[in-house]
Amino acid sequence: MKQTKAYSAASANSLLAMDTIERRETSAHDVQIEILYCGICHSDLHTVRNEWSEIMATTYPCVPGHEIVGRVTEVGSSVTNFKAGDRVGVGCMVDSDHVCDNCQADVEQFCPNVIFTYNSPDKHLGGVTYGGYSESIIVDEKFVLRAPENLDLAGVAPLLCAGITTYSPIRRWGDIKGKKVGVVGLGGLGHMGVKFARAFGAHVVVFTTSPGKKEDALRLGAHEVIISTDADDMQKHAGTFHFILDTISAEHDINAYIGMLGLDGNITLVGAPDKPLPVSAFALLFGRKSISGSLIGGIRETQEMLDFCGEHNITADVEVIPIQQVNEAYERMVRSDVKYRFSIDMATLKSA
Ligand code: NAP
Ligand code: ZN
Repeated sequence: MKQTKAYSAASANSLLAMDTIERRETSAHDVQIEILYCGICHSDLHTVRNEWSEIMATTYPCVPGHEIVGRVTEVGSSVTNFKAGDRVGVGCMVDSDHVCDNCQADVEQFCPNVIFTYNSPDKHLGGVTYGGYSESIIVDEKFVLRAPENLDLAGVAPLLCAGITTYSPIRRWGDIKGKKVGVVGLGGLGHMGVKFARAFGAHVVVFTTSPGKKEDALRLGAHEVIISTDADDMQKHAGTFHFILDTISAEHDINAYIGMLGLDGNITLVGAPDKPLPVSAFALLFGRKSISGSLIGGIRETQEMLDFCGEHNITADVEVIPIQQVNEAYERMVRSDVKYRFSIDMATLKSA
């Protein structure tokens, strides 16, 4: 076992702080990765603060981080797809059973035995898995992604979660060219949703509670911006949307957005508030509307998304921070003050 520096939370009320964790030895199918950047996802914060206790309680100490990019430092004897020096990524999953119907269908995120990158049972060392707020990670080669050579790694890191989580439902919804597509919430997920919806030719409209983000939304690719607290502005667009991606991390009135959909329109939730959201049956009945959910994406689709980003020069807009500022970054995330993803420069952990 190898001792590795990491940032962990000791309890739901603790700040993240310097810690030492153990990583397993590199076995035949493993890839050892030196972590260069790790994005900060709102799911990290939900987990650290045990906000999802009713669905998946947090085991402490908790080392979050599932937007990982780095360089391969060592590969196991059976690994043929990667070699030392490769630029790679690891997202929200590090293993699955490989045999179930969902694994066979390339949607490992729905495998009953999926192992998430943090806070999942660790079959190698016992306890739970530890994520990317650390110097290094060892991952089965099937869960290692290739980072496009032409993209800046700090901006690639958030693609591993925020990127795939928005790319997957947008692709699944089919041809959106020329259609009116809404993205609700301009944070880490939302700003990637805007970039992808625009890249696939939609007429993109951002719903935001933050008037100060209007200019940025347009720069990121939106054609229009609606301030969701402005009832008149909302009313003007009622019944006109083909598809809406809802990325809000907290309780909100989803019926207001269902009201924006046109006939057969769909709203897909990717945001994961801890409390249930009441849905008005009538809001769905009139207009035969639907509501769906979506969870990250499979490994094959994640690689497809990364390759797409390489071809179209798409990365996240990041504010690079030293790991010592992670607790302050969490507070800013709660205040919706992120432009538009924090990416931790992991070299700052080495020197800590
Ligand atoms: P984020 O960067 O904090 O962005 C969330 C945005 O939602 C904020 O910037 C804000 O946008 C809006 N918002 C926040 N609180 C709000 C409130 N009370 N009312 C209305 N709008 C509010 O978070 P993120 O990393 O994008 O994650 C968003 C959610 O997706 C989290 O719940 C996260 O756990 C979840 N998630 C799900 C998946 C999945 O697979 N389904 C994957 C990753 C993350 P404005 O300032 O523009 O209003
Ligand atoms: Zn995430």
